[in-house]
Amino acid sequence: ASEKRVAGDIKKRPLIDGVKDIIAVASGKGGVGKSTTAVNLAVALSKTCHLKVGLLDADVYGPSIPTMMNLHEKPEVNQDMKMIPIENYGVRCMSIGFLVEKDAPIVWRGPMVMSAIGKLTRGVAWGTLDVLVVDMPPGTGDTQLSISQTLNLSGALIVSTPQDVALIDARRGANMFRKILGLIENMSCFKCPHCGEKSYIFGQGGARRTADEMDLTFLGEIPLEADIRSSSDEGNPIVISSPDSGVTKAYNDVALKV
Ligand code: ADP
Repeated sequence: ASEKRVAGDIKKRPLIDGVKDIIAVASGKGGVGKSTTAVNLAVALSKTCHLKVGLLDADVYGPSIPTMMNLHEKPEVNQDMKMIPIENYGVRCMSIGFLVEKDAPIVWRGPMVMSAIGKLTRGVAWGTLDVLVVDMPPGTGDTQLSISQTLNLSGALIVSTPQDVALIDARRGANMFRKILGLIENMSCFKCPHCGEKSYIFGQGGARRTADEMDLTFLGEIPLEADIRSSSDEGNPIVISSPDSGVTKAYNDVALKV
């Protein structure tokens, strides 16, 4: 309540009524594990931090939340004509994937994406949420910029593999997101399912160094592990399916830091 307010630095409210904070999970390109991170982070925020959590799949070009959260029904609509989010693992979810046929190609242009995002945010009865995690479309183009500005994000988390960390343009990121909460390195090393030995196939420590150079918080590293992929594909996120694993601990640590 005693928060100091300076002209030009007024804390803007997130776009959606009843939602305290909106956090985006973003990446420089696709396939780096952004959705996997968004899902496990959302579940960890709910389970470990005991927060009321929502998960918005804004990756309109390749929605993967329905599969990863094992949700396949269509959302119902309430009297106010708002869609009711579908819940699993304590997280209220909404995805364009609930509304279009599976595997239908989505070839939308910017304005259509923004209209869909409007429906998926203000057109949804989210209720009260401590945090809404947004799985962004991959990349840092104009669509991502519009989504970020429209939602009035509280902050963003950047996911990168060790190899693609160079694709993160810090200036562009800083323009896009009011606050970058930190960088997560995904697929940091390969953990052998037989002997458990770690191999740093893409090199070691790259993302941590880049985070330091960019003055970003390094939030942790997630190894490349077969269980992460299979649990995602089965709709049973690793933080649920292997609660005592090192990976779950790493996701919980990220949840506690953001
Ligand atoms: P993005 O959202 O960046 O496109 P996804 O989260 O969909 O990426 O991940 C792409 C693929 O890689 C998925 O099959 C996912 O299960 C797998 N994957 C992501 N992170 C890991 C990891 N740390 N270990 C093993 N597989 C992973």
